[in-house]
Amino acid sequence: MAIKRDYYEVLGITREATGNEIKSAFRKLAFRHHPDHNHEDGAEDKFKEISEAYEVLSDTEKRSTYDRFGHSGTEGLFGQGFEGFGTGGLGSIFEDFYDFFNDVATTGRQGPRRGADLHHGLTITFEEAALGCQKEIEITRTERCSICHGSGAKPGSQPSVCSNCNGSGRVRRVQQSIFGRFANITVCPKCHGEGSIIKDHCSRCRSSGAEKISQTISLDIPAGVDDGNEIRLSGKGNIGERGGPAGNLYVTLKVLPHQFLQRDGVNILYELPLNFAQAALGTEVEVPTLYGEVKLKIPAGSQTGTVFRLKGKGITHLHRNHRGDQLVGLRVVTPEQLTKDQRHIFQELANSLNRKRKE
Ligand SMILES: [Zn+2]
Ligand SMILES: [Zn+2]
Repeated sequence: MAIKRDYYEVLGITREATGNEIKSAFRKLAFRHHPDHNHEDGAEDKFKEISEAYEVLSDTEKRSTYDRFGHSGTEGLFGQGFEGFGTGGLGSIFEDFYDFFNDVATTGRQGPRRGADLHHGLTITFEEAALGCQKEIEITRTERCSICHGSGAKPGSQPSVCSNCNGSGRVRRVQQSIFGRFANITVCPKCHGEGSIIKDHCSRCRSSGAEKISQTISLDIPAGVDDGNEIRLSGKGNIGERGGPAGNLYVTLKVLPHQFLQRDGVNILYELPLNFAQAALGTEVEVPTLYGEVKLKIPAGSQTGTVFRLKGKGITHLHRNHRGDQLVGLRVVTPEQLTKDQRHIFQELANSLNRKRKE
């Protein structure tokens, strides 16, 4: 027999390695070199070497004997040649190994699955967002098939229990390998884990159990929503698979800008243009608000930048019983073009103002 490599070296671990570190190193190497899927020359020998090292190091007693006496201490174990172990001898190794193999195999197992979420965009006006509204949207989603009610089988027929797995959806596959026979549990290849076989297929859904439908959904949009807000309708997404719950429908709002009004949180901003005369003499104007036109008195001598507050004419807070205000900012506009008469009046006004300043 060739000179044996050190078991720690074989597994690529230190002498201080913990049980978990040993197990994890073994799994990685065993998976890489397992003769079932590694057909390179020497893979089989390598696998044997790894298994032997693990058999010793994973057992506290054997490990301590090995630590004290080296290979000579464990010779009795493997002296007869490692091939000698039949079905029973290496139990713990292969439990550890196939635990891992099964983890890999069962990830493909078919359990209940939640349906997909759906996303929908909805454009609403500034007023609709501020005041709330009712909307109807048309969506396409999958629903339980109306012909077979989700069974996938033609009405009147029943899916039959899969004979390959007796309805469990999983099969034990017995593998012959160099160490003997192992049972490995995998997804049933005949029914793909469903446990049943459909012989007469539903013509509507082609046995998927689901069909695409168009649906009109009413939406209550609360007052105070803003651009980019998302409304969630739980269970209005696609139907789940194998009894899983339906997904959600998410409606993302796009709010169109208003011609005059701007939003600032729960307040509304409005810029009121006034001409010189109105600002100087004072006036009464009608201001647009979310709740209709509101009369506003502008006192004589008002300046650009003066802000008037219309209490309670703002937006209702989405989550609180509180409504903001409308802020009206004054802007005095200088006329750009004057008629001859206007020019004359301005000239007189200018002369008068100049006189006043000199007094
Ligand atoms: Zn169907
Ligand atoms: Zn089956």
